[in-house]
Amino acid sequence: MQLIFMGPPGAGKGTQAQLLAALWKIPHISTGDILRACVVAKTPLGLKAQAYMDAGDLVPDQLLMDIVQERMNQPDANAGWILDGFPRTVAQAAFFDTLLCDVSGAGGKSGKDCDIRAVNLDVPDNVLVTRLLSRGRQDDNEETIRRRLQVYREQTEPLIEFYRAREQLVAVDGDRDMELVTAELQQALSGDS
Ligand code: ADP
Repeated sequence: MQLIFMGPPGAGKGTQAQLLAALWKIPHISTGDILRACVVAKTPLGLKAQAYMDAGDLVPDQLLMDIVQERMNQPDANAGWILDGFPRTVAQAAFFDTLLCDVSGAGGKSGKDCDIRAVNLDVPDNVLVTRLLSRGRQDDNEETIRRRLQVYREQTEPLIEFYRAREQLVAVDGDRDMELVTAELQQALSGDS
């Protein structure tokens, strides 16, 4: 199982990714969680990332590429993974393709030829805003939320077509009860990987 979870902020990627990773006993790799841990620990990376995150902007690609490269090379990533929140830009996706050539388990193939699948959870904007405001994370105030949605539409949404063109896209309606979304994901993803 090599899965990328996409979708706007508040779509429920983190929740679903965590559930399925536990079920399938593979690591759930959330770049947002990794970055927040660096911010709390005040590491050099965290200090660089914090202002971007607080503003609702993307953290520069190079920092994310370093994080993901290091994480993907850890032994527990050999058996598969769910990547949550990465790639978020076309440059990150291109980098990830070359990284997949190098990490074990991909058999030296590039991302284009791998068995990765990219899941998109689709949820309308008004539902997203309501969900994020009730979640109340530090970057969940109305102004930042609006900015994150705009950044998502501009920089991340194009990746849906990128993966669809390669027939790696799995599109799921995320505007339903959590359990229904989980069930549909399980059905769509298990069996044929
Ligand atoms: P959400 O999807 O709910 O907005 P995440 O936890 O995935 O939240 O990410 C929180 C913040 O961390 C983002 O707004 C962004 O600043 C930063 N971030 C996470 N992943 C990436 C990434 N792949 N590229 C750039 N920035 C990222």
